[in-house]
Amino acid sequence: MNNIATRPVDTVIAAAPEFLADRITVNDALRQQHARGEDTSTPTLPDAVAFVETTEEVSRLLALCNQHGVPVVAFGAGTSLEGHVNPVRGGISVDLSRMNQVLEVSAEDMDCLIEPGVTRQQLNEYLRDQGLFFPVDPGSHCTIGGMCATRASGTNAVRYGTIRENVLSLEVVLADGRVINTGSRARKASNGYDLTRLLIGSEGTLGIITKVRLRLHGIPEAMSAAVCQFPTLASAVETVITVLQMGIPVARIELLDEVQMQACIAYSKLEGYGAQPTLFLEFHGTKASVAEQAQSVEAVAVENGGSGFAWATDADHRNRLWKARHDAYWAAVAMKPGGRGIATDVCVPISRLAEALLGAKDDIEQSGFSAPIVGHVGDGNFHTVILVENEEPATLAAAWELDKKIVHRALALGGTCSGEHGIGLGKREFLEAEHGLEALAVMRSVKQALDPRGILNPGKIFRN
Ligand SMILES: Cc1cc2nc3c(=O)[nH]c(=O)nc-3n(C[C@H](O)[C@H](O)[C@H](O)COP(=O)(O)OP(=O)(O)OC[C@H]3O[C@@H](n4cnc5c(N)ncnc54)[C@H](O)[C@@H]3O)c2cc1C
Repeated sequence: MNNIATRPVDTVIAAAPEFLADRITVNDALRQQHARGEDTSTPTLPDAVAFVETTEEVSRLLALCNQHGVPVVAFGAGTSLEGHVNPVRGGISVDLSRMNQVLEVSAEDMDCLIEPGVTRQQLNEYLRDQGLFFPVDPGSHCTIGGMCATRASGTNAVRYGTIRENVLSLEVVLADGRVINTGSRARKASNGYDLTRLLIGSEGTLGIITKVRLRLHGIPEAMSAAVCQFPTLASAVETVITVLQMGIPVARIELLDEVQMQACIAYSKLEGYGAQPTLFLEFHGTKASVAEQAQSVEAVAVENGGSGFAWATDADHRNRLWKARHDAYWAAVAMKPGGRGIATDVCVPISRLAEALLGAKDDIEQSGFSAPIVGHVGDGNFHTVILVENEEPATLAAAWELDKKIVHRALALGGTCSGEHGIGLGKREFLEAEHGLEALAVMRSVKQALDPRGILNPGKIFRN
C-alpha cells in the first residue's frame, strides 16, 4: 500500500480540472511567470497556476482551497511593486487576465461593468467612440482588478480621484466561495458598511474581485498640455503648492527632477528641454477655461523663476509628452543597464511637500545611489526610483535603508508610507508606526472574519 501523504495542494490540483479543465497547470515556465511582480522580492514558485474565466470557476476554486487550507494569490498583470503577487506560502496563483470583457456601458449614466482583467488602455480604446473615458492611469499595463486591489492612482488623480473614487461597486468571491455584490449603480448611498471601500486596497487578502462597476467621465471639450522648467526643485514645488492653493483645477501636475528629466530626454527622445526640475501639466475644460487655467499657472510659474512655459493643444504633442511621463520608470531603469529600480511611494499633505521632497533629495545624495524623483505632486505623492546594479542582499539592504529614511520623514510630516503602490511585503514594517497597534488589530479582526483559514494572499499587509 502506498502510504506517502498527499499534500493538500495536490488534492486541489487533482480536483480542479473538473471545472477548470486544462486551465490549471504546474508548467514550470508559467509558475516562474507568477513567482513575483515588478519587485525585488525573492521569487517563490506557486504550486500551480489557474487561468480562471468565470466567477463560478473562481468560486469553486476558492471553496476547494478553503476546504483544504491551500493559499490562493490573485494575479492580474503582475506589475505591482511591493511583492504583492509573490506566493510566499506556495499554493495556487489565480490568474484573472482572461476575465477581460467589457460587459456593459451606459453612456446615459456614465458607468460601465467590466471583468477584472480589463486594462485601462483596453477600456479607453473601447470607450473612445462614445465620448467617455476612464481617468485612473497608472504608468503600467495593469488590470483594473489589480488597480482596485492596490487602491491605485496615476497622473489624473488630482482632478478625477483615485480608483477608490471611481468604483461604484464590486462583485467579490470570498474565501469560502460565496459571491457578494458590494453596492448598486447609485452615485451615492448611505446604506450600511461600505464593503466596496473595504475591498479596495485589500490586496487580494479579503476576496477576489470578479466584476467592477466603474464611474466614467465625459471627454472634455478641450485639453492642453504644458511643460515648464525651473532653476531648483524648491521653486517647482512652490509653484505646485500655489497653483493648488489658488484652486486652479489642473487635471494633471507632475514633477520630474533634473535626474529624471535627463533620463526621459534620453529614453523618450524629448527635444528642446534641459535636464532640470520640470513640471508637466494638463488642463481640461472648455477652450476658454483651458486657456485661462494655462495663463494663470504660467503667471505663478514665472513668479517662481520658471521658464520656457509652453502649452500645446494638438493631440500628438500631448500624447508624446504623457507617454514620456508614463515611461518615466523605464527611462530611469534604462540609466542603469542590467540593473533594477526600487520605487518608493510616499505621500504627504501638500503643505509639507517641499520638506518631504527636499529631504528625500538630501537622503539620496548621502546614500550614494542614483535615484531620480518623479511625482504626482498635485496629491503630495512622489516616487524615487532607487537604481541598483544587482539584487545582492547587501545592495538591496542599502536601498531599503534609503527607502526607510524617506518613509519615516513622510510619516513624521503627517503622510503615508504608500500613496498608491500598496503594502504587499515591502511596506509591512511601517504599518504599525502609521496606524498604531489598535487600528492594526481592527484590520486583523476584519481579515479573521472574512478569511478565518488565512488562505487569501497570506503573508501580505501583516507581518505574520
Ligand atoms: C512602470 C510601472 C509604473 C507604475 N505606475 C503606477 C502608478 O502610476 N500608480 C499606481 O498606483 N501604481 C503604479 N504601478 C504599480 C502597479 O501597476 C499597480 O499596483 C497596479 O494596480 C497593479 O495591477 P496588476 O494588474 O498588475 O496587479 P498584480 O500585480 O497582478 O496584483 C496586485 C495585487 O492585487 C491583487 N489582485 C490582482 N487582481 C485581483 C483581483 N481581481 N481581485 C483581488 N485581488 C487582486 C494581487 O493579489 C496583488 O496583491 C506601476 C508599476 C510599474 C511597473
